[in-house]
Amino acid sequence: MTNAVPDTQLKDIIVKTIQQHGAMTIADYIALALGHPEYGYYRAQDPLGQRGDFTTAPEISQMFGEMLAAFYMDAWQQTGQPEQVKLIEAGPGRGTLMADMLRAIKANWPDFFATLDVHLVEINPVLKQQQQEMLTDYTVTWHDKLFDVPEGFTFFIGNEFLDALPIHQYERKQGQWFERCVTVDENNNLVFGLKETLFTDPAIKQDGIREVSPAVATAVGEISGRLIRYGGVAVLIDYGYTQENAMGDTFQAVSRHEFVSPLLHPGQVDLTAHVDFAAAAQAAEAAGAVVQGILTQRAFLCGLGIEQRATQLSAMGDEQQVKDIQAALHRLIAPDEMGDLFKVMVVTQ
Ligand code: SAH
Repeated sequence: MTNAVPDTQLKDIIVKTIQQHGAMTIADYIALALGHPEYGYYRAQDPLGQRGDFTTAPEISQMFGEMLAAFYMDAWQQTGQPEQVKLIEAGPGRGTLMADMLRAIKANWPDFFATLDVHLVEINPVLKQQQQEMLTDYTVTWHDKLFDVPEGFTFFIGNEFLDALPIHQYERKQGQWFERCVTVDENNNLVFGLKETLFTDPAIKQDGIREVSPAVATAVGEISGRLIRYGGVAVLIDYGYTQENAMGDTFQAVSRHEFVSPLLHPGQVDLTAHVDFAAAAQAAEAAGAVVQGILTQRAFLCGLGIEQRATQLSAMGDEQQVKDIQAALHRLIAPDEMGDLFKVMVVTQ
């Protein structure tokens, strides 16, 4: 790893916890590494952008937010133009996506804009501050939990929100299931181990790793429950897969745009897993909601006209701007970039 970061107090806390209580599930490890009240990765810093650890679609181009604005305008018309809409974003990062959406809606569809009441759900105080600066022109309310957002017809958006939620990893070895866990070796390094589990999945016939995320199921269930109760539409965008009972280890850590070991620097690196969209869809349906579809980001953005928008923006730009717009478009929709890996799940009441 080129960007060595110092070991943290959080690592000591985790080592001590394991020494006292035994090996920790990967889900507990992720929850601590990201969410520890003092040292958790999502409590203390802004991870985004070129100088941060990773970049997201809204940070690549304003076109991403503009396409979502167009999507919700269409949804608003299709749902009979409700007079009041709670526009809710979970995990809004720097607030860039919401700022781009609101700017586009205000400029193009003032009637729709007038119905909006904006709510952001965020646990990171550093990012919350940035969101406040980014959204000074608008009335916005912040919450720690989706549950705290007041009732009402809902348009929900979460971009790269689900991948930050904890997963369990179960490993099938010669037909027998174990849970992968985090433990310590004789030098007090964090290492992967296996422990006994009651987990089993009769649909899976080959050895390998199966990832399961009760946290994703709960989040999708709550979002769906909100749609059932008050009406509305949710869009969940993330890297992930759609096949059922998929196998494989997608638990990963990213620091300064490079993959690093997920166990080396808890609290200092971003930990994520690919989202199991088949399981997420089942959670939405179990709550009584309707999954309208799971598209690739490419199909979703192209269907909304992102290529035409890039052409339109290019016509207004100088040579360098045209290059930048085309490069951003490529990153968002090319199959070997974000276009196929990222999926868009649309859920309605
Ligand atoms: N949507 C943004 C940021 C993605 S990063 C973008 O596309 O740029 C993940 C975001 O989720 C961050 O804002 C992080 O602070 C937030 N987050 C992580 N866990 C969360 C949780 N349990 N509840 C609410 N927000 C969370």
